[in-house]
Amino acid sequence: VRALDLEVRRAVADSSGEYVDWLAGLVATPSVNPRYDFPTTGEAAAQQLLAGLLASAGVDVALRPIDRARLERHAGETTLSASYEGRPNLTARLGPPEAVLVLNSHIDVVGIAPDEVWETDPFAPRIRDGTLVGRGAVDAKGSLAAMAAALATVRRMEVPLRRGVVLTSVVDEEGGGGGTLAALDEVAGAAAAVVGEPTGLRVSPATRGHWMVRLVVPGRRAHPGAAHEGVNPIDKAYRFVQAAWQVQAALDRARPHPLWTHQPVQHVFNVATFEAGRWGQSASVPGEARLEVMVGTVGGESLEEIRAVVDEAFRRVIATDAWLREHEPQIEWTPRRNAGAETPREAEVVRIMQRAVEAATGAPARLEGLSAVTDMRHLVHAGGLPCVNVGPGEMRLAHTAGEALPLEEYLLAIEVYTRAILAWGTRNSGEGGEA
Ligand SMILES: [Zn+2]
Repeated sequence: VRALDLEVRRAVADSSGEYVDWLAGLVATPSVNPRYDFPTTGEAAAQQLLAGLLASAGVDVALRPIDRARLERHAGETTLSASYEGRPNLTARLGPPEAVLVLNSHIDVVGIAPDEVWETDPFAPRIRDGTLVGRGAVDAKGSLAAMAAALATVRRMEVPLRRGVVLTSVVDEEGGGGGTLAALDEVAGAAAAVVGEPTGLRVSPATRGHWMVRLVVPGRRAHPGAAHEGVNPIDKAYRFVQAAWQVQAALDRARPHPLWTHQPVQHVFNVATFEAGRWGQSASVPGEARLEVMVGTVGGESLEEIRAVVDEAFRRVIATDAWLREHEPQIEWTPRRNAGAETPREAEVVRIMQRAVEAATGAPARLEGLSAVTDMRHLVHAGGLPCVNVGPGEMRLAHTAGEALPLEEYLLAIEVYTRAILAWGTRNSGEGGEA
């Protein structure tokens, strides 16, 4: 064990009580994304709190307003919020502005759904058996507070950095990622990025994507006594359901992804809606059926590529049915689309995060795809940055009642990010991934 490793462990341990307070303070400042109809102090209050904490640790920090008009060029890639008024991003910097490593996570959280039952106030964080419970503990204030604490730790250790680090605490991740798209302007010329999302400290250089397609399949209304004169659109629409599942299975067979072997299904399709007829009324053959299918991609697969495969399967359904040939269904690829993303595992930032996790946990880092859409897609596609997701907590607890983060894992995450900053900053660019 190198001296620096021990020093990191001691530096985080020395301030652990303070860093737990940082996390609790952020959870206690309800920064619910305004797309949820939920009374809240807003993202700005939480950003101001975080800015104050970073400043108190001597880190250079600033809040940046978001110019909605500048985001318009990304309108085709994701959902943007109607307004970013009073919703600043936070940027904190350490070291020189060259070859910067971006640490990115989000300040906004989802609202409390009506059917979500919490034992205690989700915005009054409670620590029980070493676990902090509250909205955002996992998604993603655990990651965000740990990243901020890592900057503070490096600042306090007074290790000079040859390559800099910028923390971007963004708004509106839960709305579509407008905050991260805006933050790209603050980190122009950066070299790589780490996204703080709950990966259970696994190293995830790939995320999933999805695109919703809608079909309106015509039938012919008829009196049930003369059903043979009608055409039942449920039968016709079901052929598209079957075609979708066949495409899903074929994609998994043809394009298995090495980072998703831990899950039985890789291309996650969801037949989300199937509507036809009127519930409780059987007096007519329905006139049309409507279908919504979420089509899934894995890692770097392009949405357009998978769309082409699905369209081809739908065309075959139509070609083999006389009624559908004459009465073509409407097929609409909706604006509900989010690309997946992938960075090669050989990328320096991936290797640095693997080594940081191994040094902090003393166990081999697990390299796994993340079954979620994260802001990694914007950092990769719009930002052109190699990127990896690493953060404390389990994604399956995100957006649920009793969202909980073990504090031991939170403190390990601070160590992971601290080691990553030091590994990044104490090596010259171009030295490559080996150390
Ligand atoms: Zn998140």
